[in-house]
Amino acid sequence: MTDLSKLGRLALSAAMRGGTEGWGIHGSSRDHIRYSEPLERRRGRRRRCYCGCGNPVTHRGMANGVCLTQACELGITRWVRTGDVKPMRTHP
Ligand SMILES: [Zn+2]
Repeated sequence: MTDLSKLGRLALSAAMRGGTEGWGIHGSSRDHIRYSEPLERRRGRRRRCYCGCGNPVTHRGMANGVCLTQACELGITRWVRTGDVKPMRTHP
């Protein structure tokens, strides 16, 4: 059973809406509610975000308690909204 008291605010909100079946075991960006979590501060260089912004990676994209991707805050915000870290290309 998932201990809801250990979840962050956004995780809890996602768990309330989507349920906690398979929480922390199986996460899908399509089937579960996406949310973001800030990465813990660590010493040393951070990896660069791949969304094209050139900023360091600061957040992770979560679904059902599973980390699915990592990017800058903007990239993860976009991922939560659209399921894609990179901006949508309107003209392919
Ligand atoms: Zn980025």
